[in-house]
Amino acid sequence: KAKELGRNTCAFFQEDMQSTSDARLQMEKSLHRALKEDEFEVYYQPQNNDKGDIIGAEVLLRWKDHDRGFISPMEFIPVAEEIGLIHDIGRIVLQKSTEQVATWRQQGLWQDSWKISINVSPMQFAHANLLDYVIEALDKSGLPAELVDIEITETVLMSDLDSALAKMEQLRDLGISLSVDDFGTGYSSLKYLKDLPIDRLKIDQSFVRDLINDKDDYAIVLAVIAMANALSLNVLAEGVETLEHFQQLQLMGCYSYQGYYFSRPVCATEFEKYCKSHFETEVI
Ligand code: C2E
Ligand code: MG
Ligand code: MG
Ligand code: MG
Repeated sequence: KAKELGRNTCAFFQEDMQSTSDARLQMEKSLHRALKEDEFEVYYQPQNNDKGDIIGAEVLLRWKDHDRGFISPMEFIPVAEEIGLIHDIGRIVLQKSTEQVATWRQQGLWQDSWKISINVSPMQFAHANLLDYVIEALDKSGLPAELVDIEITETVLMSDLDSALAKMEQLRDLGISLSVDDFGTGYSSLKYLKDLPIDRLKIDQSFVRDLINDKDDYAIVLAVIAMANALSLNVLAEGVETLEHFQQLQLMGCYSYQGYYFSRPVCATEFEKYCKSHFETEVI
């Protein structure tokens, strides 16, 4: 009986593995099709200051698969990286978002003081063509580089520091600013903050979530804000979900914010509405 059970367990296990790799192959196929058939869309999530005014937006990639509907970037970006599609996808994100922001700017909707923040994964950052793709997007859209911010993670700094540094400087020379995304979740040395051409730290949402109740999270957020201020770096809190978060962070010396409290990431049309309703409240 035990033998039988053992065999069954084994059979279940294999079946499970099989369906996992089938799903994976299916996703790889779908990603290739998505790229060819332009199934990627970029969403925008506003970033706001103490007064709630818009100071920019983060570009967040959305993919609506034929069969599965919306798939999280956390799920498909690692796959796109493994099969090498991330570079073409990143190029599309750069083109679509800069073109959209350039259009909004011409319409008077997007202010020159606002930044569009674009995520670049460590693998994208290391790729030889990244700078070309950035320049291409700026040229095609006509968007000034000063309006563009690139979000990198601490991991970028850990692999090949010299070439990462060189690339960061090239981007800065173009006029682009650099943010460190998910700050506090990686293993980078504090020394980097002093030496590298970084403009802003984005405090990871995992520290913000329980900020009110967890004294350790509170201490970490307070320390990061103080350190950023002391090093003359900008600082933004991610994952600001409630008025309580917003008020607490203000008291702690933070001055820029992003999160569901202000808005979820939304499609271009919804973002336009957000901006317009925002201007109206500002006038009143
Ligand atoms: P991220 O860059 O840290 O982006 C912030 C994530 O937090 C987004 O998830 C956003 O929807 C979510 N978020 C924003 N406000 C809140 C909040 O108040 N509460 C909570 N719980 N979540 C909030 P999303 O859109 O699913 O993206 C996940 C990750 O996928 C991003 O994390 C980024 O690492 C990656 N990603 C998204 N778009 C791109 C892209 O175009 N290129 C690359 N390389 N990575 C991307
Ligand atoms: Mg980001
Ligand atoms: Mg983040
Ligand atoms: Mg994240």
